[in-house]
Amino acid sequence: MIFIDILVLIYALILGSFFNVVAIRLLNKESLVFPPSHCIHCRHRLHVLDLIPVLSYLFLNGKCRYCKAPISPLYPFGELLTAVSIFFVYKSIGLSLELIPVLLLTVLLIISVLTDIRKQVILDAVTLPMLGVLTIIRLFIGNESFWYYLIGGIVGFLLLFLIAIVSKGGMGGGDIKLYAAIGIVLGPGLTVMSLVLASFVGAIAGLFLMMIGKLKRGQPIAFGPFIMIGTLFSYVYGREIWDWYMDIFL
Ligand SMILES: [Zn+2]
Repeated sequence: MIFIDILVLIYALILGSFFNVVAIRLLNKESLVFPPSHCIHCRHRLHVLDLIPVLSYLFLNGKCRYCKAPISPLYPFGELLTAVSIFFVYKSIGLSLELIPVLLLTVLLIISVLTDIRKQVILDAVTLPMLGVLTIIRLFIGNESFWYYLIGGIVGFLLLFLIAIVSKGGMGGGDIKLYAAIGIVLGPGLTVMSLVLASFVGAIAGLFLMMIGKLKRGQPIAFGPFIMIGTLFSYVYGREIWDWYMDIFL
């Protein structure tokens, strides 16, 4: 089993470097296929050895091999984020049909985090097709009825829509559609929990960043990473979190 675990990790790292490219090229409205991977500073085409997830960044000391321009740490971050989240989902769910919608949602969350951190947007070009695919998958795969998941999608959409109205733009349109996709996979209860967790972790992280002087009061902070944490944790640990909450507060 350890062999398969290692294989999953390696495959996820490679997927992660692909998601980096997807995020950057979609943000820049470039083709996903052409040109081949190149340094964004000197345009030099990258060697296979420059493309090994995380390791290339470490060995090259975070600089381009050809022009020595710094490489964004967001590259290894995206690779590690993908490896950790896909491995976490795979280990938590195991090999079952349910792994399909949850893995696809995880991919959507990863790309959303990468675009949100870079340019504070969550792209419709990724979210809407994925929302369609997930809705179709939920017709066939799930422990609950399709309607349960559909209501989840509507709850996710409406919750974020209301927050967007109340906060007057504090929540973007991208977040609203992303939460529709989350709801389709999680169902209504866990979707609400996901948002509560995301807000809680986001508030703590915001306070921490303000304390160490990395964030000013009123400065916007990308919510995508917290949506991802809230969603994966409520999916995997939702029941435990709920029982724990009930024990303490009721
Ligand atoms: Zn270069």
